[in-house]
Amino acid sequence: AYSGPSRDEIIAKRREYLSPSIFHNYKSPLNVVEGKRQYLFDDKGRRYLDAFGGIATVCCGHCHPDVVEAIVEQTKRLQHSTVLYLNHAITDFAEALAAKLPGNLKVAFFTNSGTEANELAILIAKLYTGSHDIISLRNSYHGNGGGTMGTTAQSIWKYNVVQSGVHHAVNPDPYRGLFGSDGEKYVRDVQEIINFGTSGNVAAFISEAIQGVGGIVELAPGYLPAAYDIVRKAGGLCIADEVQTGIARTGSHFWGFEAHGVVPDIVTIAKSIGNGIPLGAVVTTPEIAKALTRRSYFNTFGGNPVCTAAGLAVLRVIEKEKLQENAFVVGSYLKERLNALKDKYELIGDVRGRGMMLGVELVSDGKLKTPAQSETLHVMDQMKELGVLIGKGGYYGNVFRITPPLCFTKEDADFLVDAMDYTFSRM
Ligand code: PMP
Repeated sequence: AYSGPSRDEIIAKRREYLSPSIFHNYKSPLNVVEGKRQYLFDDKGRRYLDAFGGIATVCCGHCHPDVVEAIVEQTKRLQHSTVLYLNHAITDFAEALAAKLPGNLKVAFFTNSGTEANELAILIAKLYTGSHDIISLRNSYHGNGGGTMGTTAQSIWKYNVVQSGVHHAVNPDPYRGLFGSDGEKYVRDVQEIINFGTSGNVAAFISEAIQGVGGIVELAPGYLPAAYDIVRKAGGLCIADEVQTGIARTGSHFWGFEAHGVVPDIVTIAKSIGNGIPLGAVVTTPEIAKALTRRSYFNTFGGNPVCTAAGLAVLRVIEKEKLQENAFVVGSYLKERLNALKDKYELIGDVRGRGMMLGVELVSDGKLKTPAQSETLHVMDQMKELGVLIGKGGYYGNVFRITPPLCFTKEDADFLVDAMDYTFSRM
């Protein structure tokens, strides 16, 4: 049983010693003391079904024994910087990661986070192309560093950073976007940005395959291949931010970009790949990777032996437990059941996503698509009381984000939807 400090003591210390900018989910925050597979346990031993852990990193399930063992064994032997000396944990993982990527994407730079990975990807693109301008999509999230906060295109996540050379293209959002599901129409804006906002050459186009923080927004069909063509004609590289969509999450594919039929020039990875351990990566081609040899480049802990041992264990667990298939089968079933809920409650304006990256958007007026923020918070809180944790996102904070560990079962999906149904029925 838990014998640590009480919830109230922790809250008081957070107020006193942690940055006032940190926030927590729920009116009455949970004190989570243990995790196992798709479950989290609070200080009273109460079990919660975790349908949001995927975002916070967990793909194999909380504290997966194989991953824990890999971390512990490597920690006992050696933990050091990634560079300076040889260690096989790092190269073993790099090789295994390259095997999961298409084309000539096989050279990795390791980082500690998604932000670092995207910062580095942008730097490499600028060095390789000799151009400066970056195009990202409105409603995107790419990180909170100097450059990535510039590419992130949601005012709620942006301070007044210098974002010279960053252009935010019209978002090909099938639900709220100007042109509905017509990907070809949206892509004209990318051409116009290049024509009217740059010298005609750009360094890169960066995009998520499904926007995560932005509220599980799938890009209109046909958009990404057409955008990639335009950007490449302008000399730019195409960066796929797979921080959320990568590592089997979308079920149908290992990488989110694959569903769009494109092959990027640079892929950025983080979150799930470490199953809770800080690990990120930029993977690119040998030719593009050379751009970073003109000066010294060093990241003390990015891809250190302990984190890469974890990364390798994650890839093995996904294979061994067929987690990608599970994400596809259970995710599709869950989406079907959520769609049935949409038919039942007017408050649900849209259900979308793929595999185990699903979104449910709440609107108080179906025609005007008025965001139903307070209802979103209410349902999240009620579901927590029923033992189910889901996330929220979207610019208006009115989209449930359902991103469970990939070991989520059909029974878990039923429990989640039943809890949601029950909550809606009492509103
Ligand atoms: N890219 C995407 C798509 C993300 O969702 C996030 C984090 N929410 C990041 C990058 C940044 O990752 P990190 O928080 O690890 O820096």
